[in-house]
Amino acid sequence: MGEEADRSLAAVVEERVGSAADRVLRDCVALGAPVPEFVVRAGREPVDQFDSRYVQLTEMLLTQLDPAGVHVDVSVPPDRSSVTVRAAAGRSVEDLCAEFAEVVQQLLVEGELRGAAWPPCPAHAGRHPLWVDRSGDDAVWACAKGPGFSATVGSLAVET
Ligand SMILES: [Zn+2]
Repeated sequence: MGEEADRSLAAVVEERVGSAADRVLRDCVALGAPVPEFVVRAGREPVDQFDSRYVQLTEMLLTQLDPAGVHVDVSVPPDRSSVTVRAAAGRSVEDLCAEFAEVVQQLLVEGELRGAAWPPCPAHAGRHPLWVDRSGDDAVWACAKGPGFSATVGSLAVET
């Protein structure tokens, strides 16, 4: 019973991770940014897609992971720097979405986009980036300079 309960809990968490990651991916595609990769690992199970890239590191990395947790390795091709997010059982889709959006923003700005403002604030002609915030429960991208702009993560579009 215990083993099975763990598996179904992991399935619920993986579903939340999928929904949260989809929202961030939608923004990347809409804005023409490099598209990040989300690799989900339940406990310490091997994940070839990720482990084959870090053969030297994997063994050490695995011993640091919570065997009962779900972890998400977020990376942006082609340079592949990655950040691991711990998806604890109690975290909501909005919570995960907010963290994924922040991680992807950091990876893109420090990597492929070389310091560009991303995502660009539509209210200020892209002169500064939007920041992840919460509006009620929702994960949103917001302009930090007053109530200029706010949009749910996953709903950004290129200004026309
Ligand atoms: Zn702004």
